Amino acid sequence: MIRELAKTTVCAALARVRLERWIERGQPVVLGYHRVVDDAALGGLMPGLAVGVRMLEQHLEWIGRRCRFVTLDELDAALAHGACDRPLAAVTFDDGYRDVAVHAWPLLRRKGIPAALFVVTQAAATGVPLAHDRLYRALMRSAALDGDPTRARLATRVLLHAAPPASLFELVEELEAEDGVLDADDRDDGAFPLDYAALARLHEQGMTIGSHTRTHALLVGRDDATLRDELEGARRDLEARLGAPVRHFAYPDGQFDARVVQAVAGAGYALGFTTCHHRDAAHPLLTVPRTMLWQRSSLDALGHFSGAVLSCQAHGALPFLDPCHRQHEGACAA
Ligand SMILES: [Zn+2]
Ligand SMILES: [Zn+2]
Repeated sequence: MIRELAKTTVCAALARVRLERWIERGQPVVLGYHRVVDDAALGGLMPGLAVGVRMLEQHLEWIGRRCRFVTLDELDAALAHGACDRPLAAVTFDDGYRDVAVHAWPLLRRKGIPAALFVVTQAAATGVPLAHDRLYRALMRSAALDGDPTRARLATRVLLHAAPPASLFELVEELEAEDGVLDADDRDDGAFPLDYAALARLHEQGMTIGSHTRTHALLVGRDDATLRDELEGARRDLEARLGAPVRHFAYPDGQFDARVVQAVAGAGYALGFTTCHHRDAAHPLLTVPRTMLWQRSSLDALGHFSGAVLSCQAHGALPFLDPCHRQHEGACAA
């Protein structure tokens, strides 16, 4: 609560001095989301990974009054030519959830706002949800955590970062064996990945499809062959299935260092998107900052949507309240 009050006070003060006039002038605002759900379905979902349709609409309307929404290709062209007369914004979604097609895309099309979806190709091919969703769901059902979303999310994050990938899958399978596998009959089936047929339909309708690796691997510290497979392999998979170039990439969990960015460059991507405001000075277009948003991300201390808080987030003005803990060795600090 004290943190919320501090955030509200700082953002209100910055809004009064018209923050957006002087911070990062000319930098685009790139929004990043994960799941988009019916407002009634928000309870019990992983905090930080879901936004309700009404809140998404509020974000888009607030940003749309200040910026012009563009596609990622238009953003790429604008960044290559330097600053624009009017601030640009782009909307992106990570992980390729079904509920983005159900809840977000119709809203975006109605409003004429372009968007991009960053897809994990193995999930699109197999239809199996991502490891972090399976782990979170299994932990929520475990007796030890008793359906507490905050503790389940914390435990999920700790396990994702601490456990080697192979043992993580073993753990997920053990937990699912006890509590039931996440299957297509699950009530919460928006958590399932979009398959290639659905991705092709979205692509035909104008959504940009980008890469988010083959397996959602955290890339820092992985060997060269794995980086090539996750980066070039995912791009080739998508291009083969969509019959179109795939030019843009988002780092799983926003993790990158100088070596990973170099590998992204080698894999032929035009733009790479992070989840914080750190950049690699050698590859600024491959470390484009994003503002990651969710249901409660832009609320004031009273729990209402606050344009001042969203403005602070969009301009990276809150690192002292929400510092980045990701590894970026060798890449330039924000
Ligand atoms: Zn992701
Ligand atoms: Zn960072």
